[in-house]
Amino acid sequence: MKRLGVIGWPVAHSRSPAMFAAAFAACGMDGWEYQRLPIAPELFEQTVRALGASGFAGANVTIPHKQAALALADEAGEAARAIGAANTLSFGADGKIAAENTDAPGLLAAIGEPVAGRSALVLGAGGSARAAVWALLGEGAADVSVWNRTPERARALAQELGARAVAEPVAADLLVNCTSVGLQRTATEPAALNQLGLSADQVGSYGCVVDLVYGEAPTPLLAAASRTGVRTVDGLQVLVAQGALSFELWTGRGAPLEAMRAGASGQPA
Ligand code: NAP
Repeated sequence: MKRLGVIGWPVAHSRSPAMFAAAFAACGMDGWEYQRLPIAPELFEQTVRALGASGFAGANVTIPHKQAALALADEAGEAARAIGAANTLSFGADGKIAAENTDAPGLLAAIGEPVAGRSALVLGAGGSARAAVWALLGEGAADVSVWNRTPERARALAQELGARAVAEPVAADLLVNCTSVGLQRTATEPAALNQLGLSADQVGSYGCVVDLVYGEAPTPLLAAASRTGVRTVDGLQVLVAQGALSFELWTGRGAPLEAMRAGASGQPA
């Protein structure tokens, strides 16, 4: 039996167990299991250090543990170190813990078209915005702007990573929403767009719109973008892309993307 899991607090709503179960089924990996690991922050380090000896090969890490995951690792990849957070841990037979960040390359994979030389506007200044800005700059995006509800956070993030903080959303080839706006489906579309400093007309001016938020229906941002014919990338595509990279790290096999998307969206493969 090979064990994997997702560590969070809370973690009950994670779609990763269904996504990985679908991947194991599609690949005929009978001996693999992926489970939720609800771990409180004060117990994070001691519990995670015990996982390797308990038969775990690795774990994904989500809110609020991504920075702590990097801090406890014995070694870390370039993305994890630069972003200051890890979402993928691997437990070696020697007891060593390796940390990676697949959120950044996962976002680029989900975008699925070259970003080099293109301009991008990132909305938000939290953990996922940080990964997005680092990924886009590293891939050669020509001009990466950051807008956030709390402007000081956008300024700090932009200064640290070499992007440009903006006081209001600006035109760009690519728009990436890294805020949690859209998660609460009670807001109307104009109200949700307003929280992002955008109008529906403005949304139609971007070449591609990515929303990290996912749920049952398209987010207000993606609904507005789709109506105007703009290419969209939804949060499930980003979730699947980062999960696929974790899968490949742990198993050494190509990830079954279609099956993982079906699993994550609760549909039969
Ligand atoms: P985070 O660190 O908590 O950051 C949240 C961001 O949202 C901050 O910039 C915050 O602005 C902004 N925000 C929150 N409420 C807002 C409002 N009412 N109006 C305007 N801005 C608001 O969160 P995170 O980890 O970056 O995640 C952000 C979202 O992405 C979450 O919904 C998460 O579920 C999703 N996500 C998806 C994936 C995926 O694989 N699809 C991966 C990671 C994250 P302030 O600074 O002003 O508070």
